[in-house]
Amino acid sequence: MKGYVFHAPGQSTWQELPDPAIEDPTDVIVRVDAVTICGTDLHILKGDVPEVRPGTVLGHEAVGEIVETGTDVRTVRPGDRVLVSCISACGRCGYCREGMYGQCRGGGGWILGHLIDGTQAEYVRVPHADLSVHPLPGTVANEDAVLLADIFPTAYEVGVLNGRVRPGDTVVVVGAGPVGLAAIATARLFGPERVVAVDRAASRLQAAKEFGAEAVADAGEDPEQLIADLTGGLGADVVIEAVGLPETFELCTRVVRPGGHLANVGVHGASATLHLEDLWIRNVTITTGLVDTHSTPTLLRMAAAGRLPTRQFVTHTFPLDHMQEAYDVFGNAAETGALKVVLGVPQHEVVPVHPTV
Ligand SMILES: [Zn+2]
Ligand SMILES: [Zn+2]
Repeated sequence: MKGYVFHAPGQSTWQELPDPAIEDPTDVIVRVDAVTICGTDLHILKGDVPEVRPGTVLGHEAVGEIVETGTDVRTVRPGDRVLVSCISACGRCGYCREGMYGQCRGGGGWILGHLIDGTQAEYVRVPHADLSVHPLPGTVANEDAVLLADIFPTAYEVGVLNGRVRPGDTVVVVGAGPVGLAAIATARLFGPERVVAVDRAASRLQAAKEFGAEAVADAGEDPEQLIADLTGGLGADVVIEAVGLPETFELCTRVVRPGGHLANVGVHGASATLHLEDLWIRNVTITTGLVDTHSTPTLLRMAAAGRLPTRQFVTHTFPLDHMQEAYDVFGNAAETGALKVVLGVPQHEVVPVHPTV
């Protein structure tokens, strides 16, 4: 088979590889039909994630068909169409028992395209398959389903649920990249008074409006003043950080109201200053997190019912073997306007949500 292999920072290739094989009885082998590229993959290529060993196939999001199962796999069988989640789960450790699969101590967590070979390939071995792949309803197309492998559960769990968005809230989302946009879309499920998006790029602020933000602020112009004006000087009930830079995190701590929630989603590579001299008296809750994907079954039902704007994210599609071209387009999003690029995406018979009679 072929796969996209990380060799060293700045060096990666789509190349011939041995086919993956069942190693443990709880493994499955999935033929990859649709796969996408994550901002985290770009971090790996830059050398920001040193645990990724040279020779690892990248990718942690895919849709495909089960072609082989280990002898202990109970919930799926060959021929099943499945979503491969970015998080694997042993199902037995203390964290898995609490649904905190991202922190799995039994060989799961974020392993695909990180600690073991990932999904940017023609075939992928998925360990702990019973809790790590999700059978797909026929009503969800590949290019919609693949967005539920990572960005939707990440934005929803680590942003919206951790931030405790409630009806009537003012929600500020700092960073209108794919995860920020998914946070805007899923925050709206709770009936906030308004969602405000903050970003530097005019194209992303335009996208934020299309995904349901009522107000947008250019990060370079005074977003603090706009948020103060909208909230009677108080600040936002919930602020979601979806960038991962010290200055954006610190901005979030300045625009959250006393008693409000700041949910960090961004992947940080440098330390930010926590201004406890301002925060200690303001009853602010700050949360961090890696996605657990406990919400994936819920999100799948919503996608099947047409309640999530998944397709709006897919700006570019490529054949699977155009991986390098897809990386170039995704890595140059400011010029290409890419939100999510999806590779593969073979046609399949999509059953309409409301069949005509
Ligand atoms: Zn990811
Ligand atoms: Zn576990």
